[in-house]
Amino acid sequence: MLRDKFGREIHDLRISVTDRCNFSCVYCKSADPKNYFPHRDLLTWEEFLRLSRILVGMGIRKIRVTGGEPLLRTGVVEFIRKLRWVDGLADLAITTNGYLLPELAQELAAAGAPRVTVSLDSMHPEKFAKITRTPRSYEKVMAGINAALAAGLAPVKVNIVLVRGFNDDEIVDFARLARRRDIVVRFIEFMPLDADHSWRRDLVVTAKEIVDAIQPVFPLVVIPRHSPSETALRYRFADGQGELGIIAPVSIPFCGQCSRIRLTADGKLRTCLFSLGEYDVRYLVRNGSTDSDIARFVEKAVREKEPGHHINEPDFVQPSRTMVYIGG
Ligand code: SAM
Repeated sequence: MLRDKFGREIHDLRISVTDRCNFSCVYCKSADPKNYFPHRDLLTWEEFLRLSRILVGMGIRKIRVTGGEPLLRTGVVEFIRKLRWVDGLADLAITTNGYLLPELAQELAAAGAPRVTVSLDSMHPEKFAKITRTPRSYEKVMAGINAALAAGLAPVKVNIVLVRGFNDDEIVDFARLARRRDIVVRFIEFMPLDADHSWRRDLVVTAKEIVDAIQPVFPLVVIPRHSPSETALRYRFADGQGELGIIAPVSIPFCGQCSRIRLTADGKLRTCLFSLGEYDVRYLVRNGSTDSDIARFVEKAVREKEPGHHINEPDFVQPSRTMVYIGG
């Protein structure tokens, strides 16, 4: 079991398989990114697979494949298929903007039906196009969600990053969407990880505000946590079907129960979303290190995992990598 010096067990790995994304969401990526990594700097699928096997051997139980936009990278379906067979891996999920799901949902389902989370920040086509800075993004993402459901990938989770003044008027509409049995809605508090450095505390719509908006319309009942390290506060509707969740790293930080590490597309291990430093695993992978050399390196890195993210403290420093380069 991987454990840090504070006793937290690390069993979740997020792998960002590419730094490229076809959307430029205002709360995430710059409109004009000039700093994508050259392809030779990205880990190959074989390198990702080798590291996944080593890490699962050390206690990782869940892998989430993310990006950038993971479905943009050729070979991702085959990668998912191979990951499924990694001995000891209990849970496999993918986070996507959904744009390519109409083409790939069936193949993904055939590759082993990973759990799919799709980001959709507005149910108004024009507003969503402004948020993603991509024309017709709403139509494509909705088609993607429908394709995932039709392929049997239910329940599909839908992530909504709430930014005050942009989409906080849609909280109840999204709650209504969550009342469909096959879609689980997750509201996410806006975090200071955006390329444009436009994050301000007053733009964060807090967990309390979200619950206060929904409760009078659709009374909610708390769902007890499956495990202490679960990121979302989960709710069901008092009158029946549907589930929603709130991920509240800003107003209700959950660092004390964090069980996650991240591997970036260029092979850096990050022990916190907000890490200011990272560990170069790609160097080891490419210089002939053995699996046990790599395992020892990871073990040492994990021991030093940061106690918390400091967002609410005066010494907070935004990491130089933004969400699209880290992998959400
Ligand atoms: N391209 C995929 C997608 O759109 O879901 C995966 C990568 S994206 C970086 C992963 C998640 O991070 C998305 O749900 C996105 O909304 C979220 N995200 C990006 N920037 C964020 C920010 N500044 N605060 C909170 N969540 C953010």
